[in-house]
Amino acid sequence: MTIDHSKDRTELDVAIVGAGVSGLYALHRLRALGYRVRVYEQGGDAGGTWYWNRYPGCRCDVESLEYSYSFDETLEQEWHWPERYGTQPEILRYVNHVVDRYNLRKDIVFNCPITAATFDEETDQWQLSTGGGERIASRFCIMATGNLSTPRVPDYEGLDSFQGKWYHTGQWPHDGVDFTGLRVGVIGTGSSGVQSIPIIAGQASRLHVFQRTPQFSLPARNGPMDSDKETAHKAAYRSHREAALDTPFGMSGHPPPTQSALDISDEERQAAYEAKWAEGGSISFLYAYTDLLINKAANDTAADFVRDKIRQTVNDPKVAEKLIPHDHPIGTKRLILDSGYFETYNQDHVTLVDVREAPIERFTPEGLRTADGNEYELDAVVFATGFDAMTGALRNIALDNGAGLTIQDKWSNGPRCFMGLAMAGFPNLFMITGPQSPSVKAQMILGGEQHSDWIAEFLEYMRLNDVTRFEVEQKAEDDWVLHNNDIADSTLYPLANSWYVGANVPGKPRVFMPYVGGFNRYKKACDELAEKGYPGLRLSRYDEMSDVAD
Ligand SMILES: Cc1cc2nc3c(=O)[nH]c(=O)nc-3n(C[C@H](O)[C@H](O)[C@H](O)COP(=O)(O)OP(=O)(O)OC[C@H]3O[C@@H](n4cnc5c(N)ncnc54)[C@H](O)[C@@H]3O)c2cc1C
Repeated sequence: MTIDHSKDRTELDVAIVGAGVSGLYALHRLRALGYRVRVYEQGGDAGGTWYWNRYPGCRCDVESLEYSYSFDETLEQEWHWPERYGTQPEILRYVNHVVDRYNLRKDIVFNCPITAATFDEETDQWQLSTGGGERIASRFCIMATGNLSTPRVPDYEGLDSFQGKWYHTGQWPHDGVDFTGLRVGVIGTGSSGVQSIPIIAGQASRLHVFQRTPQFSLPARNGPMDSDKETAHKAAYRSHREAALDTPFGMSGHPPPTQSALDISDEERQAAYEAKWAEGGSISFLYAYTDLLINKAANDTAADFVRDKIRQTVNDPKVAEKLIPHDHPIGTKRLILDSGYFETYNQDHVTLVDVREAPIERFTPEGLRTADGNEYELDAVVFATGFDAMTGALRNIALDNGAGLTIQDKWSNGPRCFMGLAMAGFPNLFMITGPQSPSVKAQMILGGEQHSDWIAEFLEYMRLNDVTRFEVEQKAEDDWVLHNNDIADSTLYPLANSWYVGANVPGKPRVFMPYVGGFNRYKKACDELAEKGYPGLRLSRYDEMSDVAD
């Protein structure tokens, strides 16, 4: 991109890309500190994930009282969540309330994709370009572009010829879709598929579910908010938030396990799993014992319990066996919460098609054909095929450092970041919940707040020290990437072909992307970095280029 030194452009201190929950909080926080901040969002309104994913059944799988902002106690007290787990419309309503309450909209530009970003070495500024041709110069840039914001539609031959309608769960039409009386195909059985399938089955005249990978899923046990629970939680909200910061996954209410799954009798363990199953929720289940995610034998006890539950739920034993995962330890892919998913396969008009046995060969005008020669006639197809997770949004931007390094080159063998917050070679650029931070392995509103707060304090430190540039030292990044990988390798996570390692995107380098050392441990590392004066980050001023901090 050619650098624009004219004055015919917007000048900012901080440009934020993305108006999901993270970008919104970053705007609120930094504007209060007096920075000139603006958010650029490609969508038509705020909300990110909750703006785009409007498919039937879309719901958060963290309890509402936890999955919410913590920065304003009055907001916490005043907002009432009607259900245990927030639905997409309810979370979007909450986000819009936040946008209006803190008057954020005036500093957000909607329908405005950032298409290119180049660092200008001469002025220590990012030069951003929008899809509409606007130029923005900003000292700092924060990529709040999301981990799950780049929907992936597999490149099926013949899709253009298909005469029915197709949809991606991550780009759902705003006026909804009525499947009543239609022959529908759902492709994909990750979280979005599992959430939507029971509801689509309730409308469709015929439903085919095309499954490549069976998934572990637990009952959410959703229901109306228990008013006693809400009152008690709100009375102790501060201590809940404090407790959440001190857990591996950023949620309160789950006492740390003390025992190995292998140190107790089968009966005791079975009873504990039954209680967790009845309670609902994934953290409660995976946090039952100390070693479910680090010891395969321990993990097998939990996996076998869920396998048996699937067998007990699904009437046809052959269908049940196809639905049972055997290729990954439980919890090493995103552990799904469902409402009546496995029961759906007991309905006569619902058919499971195993596309690992016979892959989808091509779409036809009438539907699709699988490799065993079967033809499926369909009026509508739902791609529940997930996202180019964690790196897709950034790689879609023509992002370079002004000295010949592009993000595509930098990440050609998988993402490399310093604490998921910044990257060597890309001065003055931040990421919120970037790769190699806890990101998708912790409650993400909490993660977004923690990153934004850390960035705010760092910007204040730079302002105080009169510097205009920070750069990540290569060694600091290398050490962090190594640490991230060592931790991942000490767990069972890398055993799964999950989107955590990019396995759902053909050709994507296989690198374990989230930090799984625990949110609490990660936050401590961030806090220590600040306390020690940001070692590993080189600070300078553009007119002097002399280091002011070691
Ligand atoms: C179906 C679903 C269920 C989920 N459930 C949970 C859950 O239960 N618990 C949990 O903690 N997390 C959950 N998540 C993760 C969820 O993404 C986060 O909780 C949170 O919403 C992330 O907020 P964000 O602002 O970081 O990113 P996002 O919400 O993804 O927002 C990023 C925004 O950036 C915009 N953007 C991207 N690139 C550009 C560009 N070049 N120019 C302009 N704008 C751009 C996007 O349009 C998007 O609006 C879920 C995600 C999905 C998809």
